[in-house]
Amino acid sequence: MKYIFISLILISTGAAAQRLKKSDKEVIENLKKEITYLASDKLQGRRTGTEGEKLAYEYLSDQFEKAGLAPKGDGNSFIQTFEINEGKQILPATHFIINDTALESRKDFFPLIFSGDGSAKGDVSPAFKEKGRPWFWDIKDVLDENQNNPHFDIAEAIRNKALDIEKKGASALITYNSGKADDELEFDGKSKMPQIQIPVIYLSKKVAAKYLSDNAANLTVDLQTALGDKTRMGHNVIGYIDNGAAHTIILGAHYDHLGLGQDNNTLDPGNHEVHNGADDNASGTASVIELAKLVKDSKLKNNNYLFICFSGEELGLLGSKYFTEHPTIPLDQVDYMINSDMIGRLNDATHKIIIGGYGTSPEWSKILPEKTKALTAKFDSSGIGPSDHTSFYLQNIPVLFFFTGIEKDYHKATDDADKINYVGEFRVIQYIQDILKETNNNQKIAFSKTREPKMETAHFSVTLGFMPDYSYSGNGVKADAIIDGKTAQKIGMKAGDVITRLGDYPVTDLNSYMAALGKFKKGDATVVTLMRGNNKMNLEVVF
Ligand SMILES: [Zn+2]
Repeated sequence: MKYIFISLILISTGAAAQRLKKSDKEVIENLKKEITYLASDKLQGRRTGTEGEKLAYEYLSDQFEKAGLAPKGDGNSFIQTFEINEGKQILPATHFIINDTALESRKDFFPLIFSGDGSAKGDVSPAFKEKGRPWFWDIKDVLDENQNNPHFDIAEAIRNKALDIEKKGASALITYNSGKADDELEFDGKSKMPQIQIPVIYLSKKVAAKYLSDNAANLTVDLQTALGDKTRMGHNVIGYIDNGAAHTIILGAHYDHLGLGQDNNTLDPGNHEVHNGADDNASGTASVIELAKLVKDSKLKNNNYLFICFSGEELGLLGSKYFTEHPTIPLDQVDYMINSDMIGRLNDATHKIIIGGYGTSPEWSKILPEKTKALTAKFDSSGIGPSDHTSFYLQNIPVLFFFTGIEKDYHKATDDADKINYVGEFRVIQYIQDILKETNNNQKIAFSKTREPKMETAHFSVTLGFMPDYSYSGNGVKADAIIDGKTAQKIGMKAGDVITRLGDYPVTDLNSYMAALGKFKKGDATVVTLMRGNNKMNLEVVF
């Protein structure tokens, strides 16, 4: 009896909250279809710039068209294309022939990232240092001498050597390592060391052992180096409902994901299976499609609506940043932006939905219920976070960020469509619909800046407190925004400044910046060297 009675209570309460109308079930069925397709192996993990991304953005454009949205991308299309600079790549013209044997680029040899583009050939010997000929350098000794020196950077040492022999008339520098340790240099296309004049090449240990042993006689070499920019294209998908209103609400989600885990952002390194990205973020993407249909068929006419699916998010919010810098509607007309990233794994016990950006408008506390029949909201004030709403917050636009939390499949090949809580996602969509209804008026909600949480991580205990510009491809780290109340602001840093040195540590990119930051602890004093436009500045800092 008790059991029947209890289950009746459960069912009635659940049912009351969970009772789904026919139209609700249709939305849920659509979510299943959309997420299953987007997260299918066919789309190969939707990595930006790939065939998988293309299949996805063609599908999304088609869905937007069927939903009756107007195209709001480039020209009269749904697609907004943007270029991603990925550093340098070795061009096919690069070759290295030794004693008439052509070596394999990247495997047997590679040009250093700062190598000049050029050629050299002739009879050479490791011992000879003749003008107009390639010179050799065995890096074994300099590595041995600096094995306990944490500041030492072999690439920088080779570059200095090359600059030195360039002045002495060498036509190229060929480096190799005769040392026993099996550390091998690798081509680093992301490094931003400035290019020099002469070609600089590194030969693998195998090649060096074969051709450059101590009593190596004369060799004939014919080398050519050619490096070029490595770029790929990303594609945002943008649709619009023009109600002729004064303001526009943006509903967005990124649709790109990790592909086969090639971009070092997989949490399952070495597993090169398709990272299907059902929760991250086919779930959010499908919610944008369904909200487009629901809004189109609704009485919500007092605002315009822009629906946008971003690419390049996994590479550093590149698509949303590009849109905010190349908006296809005036940004000052935007009322607010809602970003859904991973809303597919609602926990049926807690019904907890994390809503970020709560502090980005004083109105949110009046508009957002903490508890509904189906959901319990956990508010987070910050406008800055690991997803695309950040790009809009940095343009002083109120934002909300919907997120059901990190699951164990996050950024792994196991993030599959059969793990999605479709009814849970539908409940999130309903919550967002209610916000649209609440704000279906001609007023624009106010914007407020948020205090950012202390960003302490495992890697470093101090920070400067600025948002890096992930799309910056020059030397150093560029600040996209200075966070209020943090060290950077206190020492007078400005958005646009490019940090090139932290104390003794050269900063060429984000990695070297993070490595340098890790060397300091609270209370340490040092100097931040940065470029503001063409002016070099040294700012004293105490962490
Ligand atoms: Zn994501």
